[in-house]
Order: sequence, then structure tokens, then C-alpha cells
Amino acid sequence: MQYEAVIGLEVHIQVRTKSKMFCSCPNRFGAEPNTLTCPVCLGYPGTLPVPNHEAIIKAVKAGLLTGCKIAEVSKFDRKSYFYPDLAKNYQISQYDMPFCTEGHLDIGGGKGFSGNDLPEKTIGITRIHLEEDPAKLTHFGKFTGADYNRSGVPLLEIVSEPDMRTADEAYAYLTGLKEIMRYGGIGDCDMEKGQMRCDVNISLRPVGQKEFGTKIEIKNLNSFRAAHRAVEYEMIRQAEELDAGHVLRQETRGWNDDHGETYLMRTKEEAHDYRYFPDPDLMEVRFTPEEIEAIRVTLPELPEAMRRRMMQDYGISRYDAEVLTQDQDVANWFDRAAGKSRNPKQVANWTISELLRLLGESKIDIADCKIQPEQLAGLVDLIAAGTINNRIGKDVFSEMFQTGTSADVIVKEKGLAQVNDDGAVAAFVDQAIAANPAQVEQYKAGNAKVLQFLMGQVMKISKGKANPQSVMALLKEKLQ
Ligand code: ADP
Ligand code: ZN
Ligand code: MG
Repeated sequence: MQYEAVIGLEVHIQVRTKSKMFCSCPNRFGAEPNTLTCPVCLGYPGTLPVPNHEAIIKAVKAGLLTGCKIAEVSKFDRKSYFYPDLAKNYQISQYDMPFCTEGHLDIGGGKGFSGNDLPEKTIGITRIHLEEDPAKLTHFGKFTGADYNRSGVPLLEIVSEPDMRTADEAYAYLTGLKEIMRYGGIGDCDMEKGQMRCDVNISLRPVGQKEFGTKIEIKNLNSFRAAHRAVEYEMIRQAEELDAGHVLRQETRGWNDDHGETYLMRTKEEAHDYRYFPDPDLMEVRFTPEEIEAIRVTLPELPEAMRRRMMQDYGISRYDAEVLTQDQDVANWFDRAAGKSRNPKQVANWTISELLRLLGESKIDIADCKIQPEQLAGLVDLIAAGTINNRIGKDVFSEMFQTGTSADVIVKEKGLAQVNDDGAVAAFVDQAIAANPAQVEQYKAGNAKVLQFLMGQVMKISKGKANPQSVMALLKEKLQ
């Protein structure tokens, strides 16, 4: 039988804030375990939570960035369960009145993760709510360590509609979501630090059937690649089960990345009853439409919108736009440079091939780069005007990179301006011909390749400054 997969994702993203969700402990990764704690985030009886304003604003921003409706009234609820990562025996979360609902995320338009074309598609976002992260448990064989530094870190849960159909679509959704949340300053989404985590829900149905099949949830995928693999694995496993006539039960599975397979964790019968109820320690959160609009105007341009604008305004390819928008600071830097130049496409080439290369080699962040965007525009325009050639341009660029001096100053101080004067170029050509009689003979005897050698000699004599087009023309003329 031919099946179609139905996939919905639940993504957790830690919000980047100065302090935790309900106390003033720092929200910081990497500290010595259990050093960033207080009676509130350790769940002592009698303590009271104080909501973090910055986290709530960022939750609203996350919703606006994904086209959600923002609730004018929302509230926090207690989700009760017993586990060592949860000192209070309940997690403060949001149940039926989350901050954000009915949003969407656009994916596709280029190549998917597996290399096939991925058509454009809109994936619905059911809801985004804010909660507190539990402590981090680390299993050491015979015992388990609990680090409460993570306990109480603000955490967004972003739940998608079951709108995805392939592993590539799930992968694209995750990548797109991460990109938007990073651009929006919501969180760093570093999966290795556990700042972004994802659960995959997947079911199969016979092609053509409308009703969804039984959903399997795969918990805690620790990379986008693992999510992609887990979807592909489940599509085969569930199809085999269904073809064998088995009835699938709703269950929760884990993912073993080493073995490349999912395994059963628990079935629906063991599902928790969380006994949600409104947290009596916390008031409702209310926003007026004006307050929501005031947050909306602080949103940055989203990466996809930026790429489309760059392709349109600067005449660059989608591929180049993707490279340039991978890092938001690089994107803004390039945007400023291209906006100042009459040759934005060249500015893109220089940014990608020279600037990003030098930044990578010298492990410098764009924020610490000595070249100002306007200065790259200046260099590119000097080349376009024929004041210097491309080769000299590269030397000038590396000097700019080291010192932050403008291209025109370097060109003037070092006398690097291209020699376009035919008389002067002719003199270089004559010198090269006189100095290399053997090669001249070879050329005249029909070895056309020698011309490149002679060209190189002329450029050397001119210290790279001769106009290459004139050199070539004059060489050919004089060797006739
Ligand atoms: P639960 O109550 O079990 O948490 P939800 O209805 O909240 O289930 O859905 C959780 C996630 O599972 C959502 O991302 C949703 O899109 C997805 N989902 C729901 N039903 C299915 C299904 N039949 N197949 C695949 N995904 C599904
Ligand atoms: Zn605390
Ligand atoms: Mg759910």
C-alpha cells in the first residue's frame, strides 16, 4: 500500500533573557552545576514567582514573527507531575490561554535537505506558549546528576499543525523557525546547549485517505538531522506495521542516533494526567492592541523577506542571498555596503569571496571587522571605475582588513592606481619583449600559449598596475 506521512512538530526554545522566568537568578548556560539557583527555582515551599517582563515580551515577539494572533488576555497554569527535574512537582506553563495562536511559517522555494526541490508551502502554527524549563538531568550509569541552573529558564513551546508530509519539510520548518527566532533575538537556539529541542509527531495514512492515522510521538530529537532521519525511519517502520495488518497504538518513542532507529518509551495508557489548573500565585497577563502594536514595530526584517529584497534590489542570486543572510550581522553589514555602492552585485562577490574568507581564517567576528561597509563600497567602485584592477584590489582589500584604512587612501599612498595611459603601458610591453627573446621566438613560431607568460612579465614589470586589457592588445599588436 502507498502511504502518506502526516507530521506535526513541538519545538522548545529557550528565551534569551538576563534572568530566569520567575526569579532573579541569571539565565546563563555553562556555569558550574547548581550555582545559579535560589529558593524560587529550587521550588522551596512558601516562595512566590515573579514573572519576567522581558521573557513575556519576547514570547509575544515570537508570535508576531510567525504571524500569530496575540491574546489580549492570557494566563499561567500549573502542570503537575512528579520527577526529579521538577522541584515543585509542577511546572508553570500555559494551558488553554497561551500568548500566541494561529500563526504560520513559510518553507521551501529552494532545495530541501535531501537535495530534491522543495516547493513553497505554508505550515500552520497552532500555538506558542511560555513556560519554565525543568532542571537538566545527566545520567552517569549508576547515578543521575540534576543541574538546577536550567530550572526556571524561560522556555517557549511552539506547536505546529500536522501540515508537513516529508522529512524534508520537517527539516525546512525547523531550520526556518530557528532562523526567525535568532533574527528576532528571541533565543540563540544552539541545539548543542539544549537551547532548541524538538519532538516529532508522525502518522501514516493511505494515499487519498482524509482521516489521519494513529500518531506516534518521537521525543527529544537533538539535531535537525536526527529529526530528518527519525521521520524517514518511522515512515518505513509504520508502513511495515500497517502492511502486516497490525493496528498501531498511540505511543511515545525515543530516538537512538547511533543505531538510527526509534524505540518504544511508553504507550498512551501510561500517559500523564497533568491536572492543569490556573496558578493562583500569578495574575492574568493583559495586552491592549496598542501595546501589541508597539511591540510589532520593534520587529526586524525577516531573513526570507531580506533575501527577496536583496535579490530584487542588488541583482544577486538566491544562493548568494542565502550565504549572505546566514548570519544576521553579516546580512546587515552587506546590506549597508551594497546600499552605498553603484555595483551591489560586485559588493556581494567581495563580501562572500574575500570578507567571509578572511573573517573565517582570522576567526574574527563581523562586529570586530575593521573594514566599514562604506569602505568596501568605495573599493568596489574604484575597481569599477578602472582606477585599480581586480588583482591590486585584492591586495588593497587585505590591507583594509588589517588596518581599516580606506581604499582610496591606500591606492594614493602606495601609488597603486592602474596605468591606463597607452604610452606607459607600451613601454612596459617593450621591456618585456626585449627581456624575453626566446619566448618571443616561440610565440612567433606558433606557440600561442607563450602569450600568457609574456602578459605575466609585463604585469610584473608594471608592478601589477598596467591595465590588463591594454597589455593584451598591445602585446598582440607588437608581436605581429
Ligand atoms: P497531544 O494532545 O497528544 O499533545 P496535540 O493535538 O496537542 O496532541 O498535537 C501535538 C502535535 O502532534 C502537534 O504538533 C500536532 O500537529 C501533531 N499531530 C496531531 N495529530 C497528529 C497525527 N494524527 N499525525 C501526526 N501529527 C499529529
Ligand atoms: Zn532562582
Ligand atoms: Mg500537546
